[in-house]
Amino acid sequence: MKIRELSLRGFRNYEELRLSPVSGVNLILGDNAQGKTNLLEGISYLSTGHGFRTRKEAELIRFGADFADLEATVFSGDRDQQLRAVLFAGRKPRQLYLGGVKQKTFAGFQGLLTTVLFCPEDLMVLKTGASCRRRLLDHALCQLRPGYEKALTEYNRLLEHKSRILKDFREFPSLADTLPDFNLRMAQLGSVIIGYRANFLEKLDRCTARYHLEFSGGREQLKLHYKTVSTILDPKCGRIELEQRILEHQESHLRAELESGQCLTGPHKDDFDVELDGISLKAFGSQGQTRTAAISLKLAEREIFREDTGEEPVLLLDDVLSELDARRQDFVLNQIKTGQVFITCCEKDRLTDLGEVFMIEGGCLK
Ligand code: ATP
Ligand code: MG
Repeated sequence: MKIRELSLRGFRNYEELRLSPVSGVNLILGDNAQGKTNLLEGISYLSTGHGFRTRKEAELIRFGADFADLEATVFSGDRDQQLRAVLFAGRKPRQLYLGGVKQKTFAGFQGLLTTVLFCPEDLMVLKTGASCRRRLLDHALCQLRPGYEKALTEYNRLLEHKSRILKDFREFPSLADTLPDFNLRMAQLGSVIIGYRANFLEKLDRCTARYHLEFSGGREQLKLHYKTVSTILDPKCGRIELEQRILEHQESHLRAELESGQCLTGPHKDDFDVELDGISLKAFGSQGQTRTAAISLKLAEREIFREDTGEEPVLLLDDVLSELDARRQDFVLNQIKTGQVFITCCEKDRLTDLGEVFMIEGGCLK
């Protein structure tokens, strides 16, 4: 899978950009605040349907512009495909086109351009709050499993609604009557989400451990543990049982939810633990160990995509190399010899023998 042509109009700080990337490594060079990360975000938008730095569509449109127009020719599934997204500054919904044909939803783009994104924040993904790790799972699964994205979108909609009820029911007590319906539907969708996450984490665990072992010179054994609703002892037990376990958990937490006014039960609280040789990485890992494990996690994600789809995903590396020491840089660079890669970097004289160089200055290609 690769991007042959990319055009960004009115997207972030780009008035108009046309880029013809190479199949291998594309080095995006430029000073700070010139638009390097924005370029990766444009690519990522066509792959996932949203910006990776914001959920607000309006922020993606160039200040003062009426719309943003993103277009890419992607070689995927043995042929060229034309992906286009137009975002509007007002309330008008975005328009998506595949090969010039208007699409109702983003589902039509599913799987045509898969990307694995790696940014400096990801280096600390194993040390920070659980939401980063859930985002990692969601980013991967939404691209790989249309059923997951559908369940998650619906779940999040219900979650928002239920949270509002829990806040407002004191004022409007009859609202609480609707809670059982919400709980049932959220347990059904929750069982779908947890099932997908359990399978994905099992693969991710195996694959990440392999990279980490190699990376640490055969010294460290890494293990991932899925942490979900506490009544679920085996997250791979099947939908029906998962649903039952979630319902039990909801029931035992009903009072606490009403008292706290918060939605305390469900996969929106999920997380996963990482252990190195049986010791929690979050609590005891050194900086180097944490970064190494995070890189292994990303490389594993890429491998799973490749195995799952039969296509090599496009790798987006935002500024990560500058945060790594030489040995780790070499490890990453050795692993990215296949497939199409976009790397952003500030330093002009480094890495330039790696592939094609594109200089970005003030949202323009130099
Ligand atoms: P760094 O090396 O510091 O990471 P960068 O080249 O990655 O820099 P970007 O994050 O891509 O820089 O952002 C460049 C500029 O884009 C910022 O100065 C920001 O103000 C501008 N920008 C962001 N969103 C918009 C927008 N919607 N319209 C216009 N400009 C924007
Ligand atoms: Mg940047």
